[in-house]
Amino acid sequence: MKGKLFKQIFWSAVAFCVLCFSIIVAASYVYGSSQHRERLWEEVSYVVAGVETAGADFFDHTSGEERLSWIAADGTVLYDSLPAVGGDHLDRPEVQQALTAGQGESTRYSSTAEATVLFLAQRLSDGSVVRIGAEPYTFFSLLMNLFAPLVVALALAVGLSLLLARYVANSVTRPINAIDLSFPEERDVYPELQPLVRRINAQNRQIRHQIEELKSEHERQDAMRREFTANVSHELKTPLTSISGYAELMREGAVRPEDVSRFSGKIYDEAQRLITLVGDIIKLSRLDSQLELPEKTTVELWEVCEATLSQLEHAARKRGVTMRLTGDRVRVFGAEYILSEMVYNLCDNAVKYNREEGTVTLTLTNTPEGARLTVADTGIGIPVQEQERIFERFYRVDKSHSKDVGGTGLGLSIVKHGALYHQTTITVNSTVGEGTAVTLQFPPLASEA
Ligand code: ADP
Repeated sequence: MKGKLFKQIFWSAVAFCVLCFSIIVAASYVYGSSQHRERLWEEVSYVVAGVETAGADFFDHTSGEERLSWIAADGTVLYDSLPAVGGDHLDRPEVQQALTAGQGESTRYSSTAEATVLFLAQRLSDGSVVRIGAEPYTFFSLLMNLFAPLVVALALAVGLSLLLARYVANSVTRPINAIDLSFPEERDVYPELQPLVRRINAQNRQIRHQIEELKSEHERQDAMRREFTANVSHELKTPLTSISGYAELMREGAVRPEDVSRFSGKIYDEAQRLITLVGDIIKLSRLDSQLELPEKTTVELWEVCEATLSQLEHAARKRGVTMRLTGDRVRVFGAEYILSEMVYNLCDNAVKYNREEGTVTLTLTNTPEGARLTVADTGIGIPVQEQERIFERFYRVDKSHSKDVGGTGLGLSIVKHGALYHQTTITVNSTVGEGTAVTLQFPPLASEA
């Protein structure tokens, strides 16, 4: 940055100096050429006065750099300081002008002098013309005169530009480099930098805020993970302790032969609980990790519901619960096996927490906001203050009842994760003693949106 800034200042300063010099040279040229002509005209007047009084004798006493000519009114050359010049000069423009207007001037190539010459001519009282030929004032001759001072001045200007560029670049960059990026102070920098410092400060605050948020999110997740591990261990330990206890009793012959079937039944039930629990943990961690989540496709939700009803038919019949499916044949964009898992868990709960002879109604509706599924039961209901918490892992309203009906406490967590994956909102409508309705509102299919 410093290099670029330095170069920009340096070249700007050099360009400025060159511009100044050019203006000075141009002004000198204009002034110099007018001075030159004035001096030559003065000389012409002097020669005119001399010739008017002394005639041709005047030229005997002249000397100088300029060429002098005296031309008669008919163009005959009466005198010329260049030797061997004679003949007729009537056709020379300056002579023509002087004869008609009194004075004449022209800058042209002179074949006699073999150079470009500035001629000034003036008519005398007798009609003859005196003419001076001099080297014209050119830009080149001016430059030649000014060459040495120009070179010195330019060298000085470049040197000063270098110093100036270094000084300015340093005074611009030093305060920037000195800014403490963690805690920049507005009063330490010049006014042009203050908006930058303010932006850095604002960004620092934002970063600190985000770090705090990330930290607390991290801590929250850590706490959740620890709690989950503790819960899992506990949930696994309980059935294993039962299994081990019953098995030990049987091994030691402490069980009467007629009780063996009941005891082994208990062992079988606890083992089934373990299998269900481990299955739910696996499903949940798969949804959690989001690593092996399947591709989404268009799924006929009606068919998923039908399949779930037939899976639960046996359990429902055992409790005298009637299940029905009504509404539209809706379709959603999602992962079929996760959707089946969600519908199954909702229906499973609707059966488990139902009353004897209750009903479970699945209603599918096509709404402008997308597909909607409601699973309604006529069961025990959920108190309002528990309705949020039932989606937490291992949270049960009534732990012993949940265990009695074979619950793991993970069913609704799986539903919640599945809903997240499908951008689906869940609403619970429940009255204790009357029943519960859980509604899943899916987003519209892409083609319908
Ligand atoms: P569980 O395996 O215990 O059923 P869930 O996560 O599926 O675990 O549900 C959490 C708790 O929410 C249940 O223990 C139960 O107390 C309550 N619950 C869920 N669904 C219903 C329902 N349809 N009716 C009444 N209570 C319910």
